[in-house]
Amino acid sequence: MLKLSDNITKLPGIGPAFKQILSKINIFSIGDLFFHLPKRYLDFSKLLPIAQAQTGVTATFEGKITDIQSRKSYRSKLKFTEAILTDKTGNLKLIWFNQPYIANSIKVGQLITVAGTVEFYREPQLVNPLFELKNKAGTKTNRLLPVYPLTAKLTNLRLIKLIAQAFKLTKIVDHLPEQLLAKFNLPTLQQTLTAVHYPQNFSELSASQLRLAVDDALPQQLAVLQKQKLSQAQQAPKIKTNIELTQQFVKNLPFNLTDSQKRSAWDILQNLDQPQPMNCLLQGDVSSGKTVVAAMAVLNTALNNFQVALLAPTEILASQHYQTFTQYFKSHEIEIGLLTRTFSQTNKTTDITKAELIDKIKSKQINIVIGTHALLQESVNIPNLALVIIDEQHRFGVAQRNHLIRNSQNLYPHLLTMSATPIPRTLALSLYGDLEVSQLTQVPSSRKPIITKLASESDRQKTYQAIRNEVAAGHQAFIITPKVESTDDQVKSVKQEYLRLQKEVFPNLKIGLIYGKMKGADKERTMQDFSRGRFDILVATTVIEIGIDIPNATVILIEGAENFGLAQLHQLRGRVGRSHRQSYCYVFTSKDDVHESERLQIFAQTNDGFTLAEYDLQNRGFGDLFGKMQSGFNFRFPQFVSIKALKLARQFAQELLNQDPSLKNYPKLKMESEQYLQTIHLE
Ligand code: ADP
Ligand code: MG
Repeated sequence: MLKLSDNITKLPGIGPAFKQILSKINIFSIGDLFFHLPKRYLDFSKLLPIAQAQTGVTATFEGKITDIQSRKSYRSKLKFTEAILTDKTGNLKLIWFNQPYIANSIKVGQLITVAGTVEFYREPQLVNPLFELKNKAGTKTNRLLPVYPLTAKLTNLRLIKLIAQAFKLTKIVDHLPEQLLAKFNLPTLQQTLTAVHYPQNFSELSASQLRLAVDDALPQQLAVLQKQKLSQAQQAPKIKTNIELTQQFVKNLPFNLTDSQKRSAWDILQNLDQPQPMNCLLQGDVSSGKTVVAAMAVLNTALNNFQVALLAPTEILASQHYQTFTQYFKSHEIEIGLLTRTFSQTNKTTDITKAELIDKIKSKQINIVIGTHALLQESVNIPNLALVIIDEQHRFGVAQRNHLIRNSQNLYPHLLTMSATPIPRTLALSLYGDLEVSQLTQVPSSRKPIITKLASESDRQKTYQAIRNEVAAGHQAFIITPKVESTDDQVKSVKQEYLRLQKEVFPNLKIGLIYGKMKGADKERTMQDFSRGRFDILVATTVIEIGIDIPNATVILIEGAENFGLAQLHQLRGRVGRSHRQSYCYVFTSKDDVHESERLQIFAQTNDGFTLAEYDLQNRGFGDLFGKMQSGFNFRFPQFVSIKALKLARQFAQELLNQDPSLKNYPKLKMESEQYLQTIHLE
């Protein structure tokens, strides 16, 4: 018997040419062939009497051929073959276009089965139905017919036959213990693969898809459990909630918290009051108000005399957080330090060098350290560290989080990550295992949906006028220049656009300019100036893509939008609509016809980040949505993975570890789970 690992050429009849064709769809071994799964199934499993051949019905019919003839249509010169299939209940017309050999393969009087969907053209008929002789039926008709992904010179039928042959010649050995599979009601690999290629019914099919998903998720779940075991011993500082001061903080805010914000804040505060390190992901669409939720956690940590590290993906964002928190805690003793490549400052001192600030952190005088991820790379000692907050965490490589250190009492800090990228719960669960997800499901009720317009060149003057109108009403605008390949060109293009706009379009308005390559201090000053209303318009690259919060900005114009991903466009748009004011997003593309792209249409239609993320997920896969975070995340059949599968895989992994803690009987699983442990840090 052949093995799954055997080369595909061990099957009879596979010469170099066929081997080459199969390699195009990544079939090299017999296992590859078995795991080349149908993309869908045609349900020809119902065998119906001809009397029930109503329009729209998909089924198999059997009967005797009572008439057959080939013809050619006068006008279109199209060749076609017509036949009549007859059973006890009636007659059904069959018609095949451009398949002249049909007339030679079927004869009057033969018993055949046909499969297809009944159409109506003057009378009910089957167009181009699949057929086979009744005594040989079962390959193409009378079944759930798999439809495989194909390549040039490979037909579905040829693949069906090849797989049938492989089944006869191969011994399929299961890598999982049969007794455990039985315990979880999962089919064996032999049953699974049989069901996938020859499903008797859809429930058998879904059972086999579940088994495949469990297989897929198993290494990862093993990694999660092994990691959990290691971290169970970890102790975290307990942070008592100061209810009175928290209430006061909330009361002093210039707005009412949404119910969602209250719920998340409460969840987080309760988790901080535990001796185990919290690992919480606070998710909320752009501008849903995550910062203030984090602020309540920060406040309580500081009130307990512990230290907080807050990490942002960019210097601009770090310094914005510094301003926001300074404002939030102005009536408290809390000292906040901003420590980035360019900055060292605190809210309680006038002038401080980097070294002095680092010293002050070390001597526990600083309660909150705000910085970029560089903060983790430089060896800043934060002895009383009890809470680490990572804003816009999808921007961080997961590995960087591993730098998080224990504090001087040998305690692990609590971890709060914030992200506007809606990671589907399934994914969050499977990636992190014990990750807690807290979701801001509402945006503040005062908000009006942003109006998005796909603009064409003929709208340009009108759009500039709309910006002038907004400025006249006391509001501000962003103009985003297109993405260019090299950063040097990017600088050139943003500068050119800035000059053009200032000179030709808005000579009477104050315009600021910001881009990534500017010096940190200059960026900071420009953002400050814009935030204080010293500019009407800020011309920018995507440096302002995430996090920037200027509630007075109500218009954003995006140039060259076809160069941006959906998630990026959504983040850019999220720079406006951050107050009760009506906001607008104008989208220009380099060529007008790009507007037809489905992606931009969808972007214009919805303000909901989750919908956009799902669209991206479906069209561009996991990797694209989560970028670096997903490196090492490699489901073979993501389409089958579900919460149910992940939970089952978790239980399965647990049983497996109970029986064989070091996985010595499962070398392949062991290797795969170790890979996960190394590439994905499940802190
Ligand atoms: P994000 O979730 O994108 O990080 P922010 O925390 O920056 O959003 O909040 C966006 C803006 O909304 C900020 O100006 C903030 O002050 C304001 N904000 C937050 N919560 C509320 C609320 N409940 N009602 C009104 N405005 C709010
Ligand atoms: Mg934010």
